[in-house]
Amino acid sequence: MTAGDRSPGELVIVATPIGNIGDLSPRAAATLGEADVVCCEDTRHTGQLLARLGLRASRLLSVHAHNERERVAEVLELLERGARVALVSDAGTPTVSDPGERVISAAIAAGHKVTTVPGPSAAVSALVVAGLGTARWRFEGFLPRRGTDRAKRLGEIAAAPHPSVIYEAPQRLSSTLQDLADRCGGDRKVAVCRELTKRFEETWHGTLAEACERSAASAARGEHVLVVAAAPAEQRSSPSQGEVQSAVASRMSAGASRRQAAADVAADLGVPKRFAYETSLGRSDR
Ligand code: SAM
Repeated sequence: MTAGDRSPGELVIVATPIGNIGDLSPRAAATLGEADVVCCEDTRHTGQLLARLGLRASRLLSVHAHNERERVAEVLELLERGARVALVSDAGTPTVSDPGERVISAAIAAGHKVTTVPGPSAAVSALVVAGLGTARWRFEGFLPRRGTDRAKRLGEIAAAPHPSVIYEAPQRLSSTLQDLADRCGGDRKVAVCRELTKRFEETWHGTLAEACERSAASAARGEHVLVVAAAPAEQRSSPSQGEVQSAVASRMSAGASRRQAAADVAADLGVPKRFAYETSLGRSDR
């Protein structure tokens, strides 16, 4: 970038490996090599990644959970000046349980071009090896550690009509599995995905009760993702009329016809189509 450069700036969100360097795409490497600035969580960590790739970024700028708010203005100024700014996190896809959202939404709001070089994410990787269905799924990230927020999320997972993907630290794996077993029942299926793409990669399939026994027997090590199967039909909570009405209304305000919106909501919430349609008109007496 030169001082007189008036070309528009661009923010490129670049996914990096979740463990195996071979998963970094050639386009990701080219983008990181060509960027004027690489925003990253940890300059040492990303510096090492670039060194392993034989790249030297012109500038590394730390953007992490504790300084992202203050960095926004700096990144906007770079984009204003026509810079090509790459955004990475320590591993996987930025903003997926990682920083970056503030910078991205500020760049969009300021009218800058925002693109992505897609790639690894532990969530999607775990989902596909779990074999518990991928057509619809819920991303839970890290659960709240305690209190009513945690209880509420566990309750939602227990009643969810789709598989739930949960990130967990090894030292909390055992207690989270126990809480899930308590709420979902010990016979609910789960996949415990560990160290994906790395040397000690393992995906274990079984029930929550078995997973609890297994985790009590030996301390968990490494990075883990849990994929909890959808609730069986009898454990799903039925949505209230208000929930159905607002779900139909929100699809209609996005342009769907009432009939289409009701059909989508019916599939989403597991209620009959006719019920969703009539409820949206305030005519259901359920
Ligand atoms: N942005 C990342 C992504 O796209 O997946 C996630 C970052 S989050 C801070 C880190 C969590 O992701 C870990 O605690 C673990 O739950 C999960 N994770 C990351 N890499 C993993 C791997 N190789 N195997 C299993 N889980 C992984």
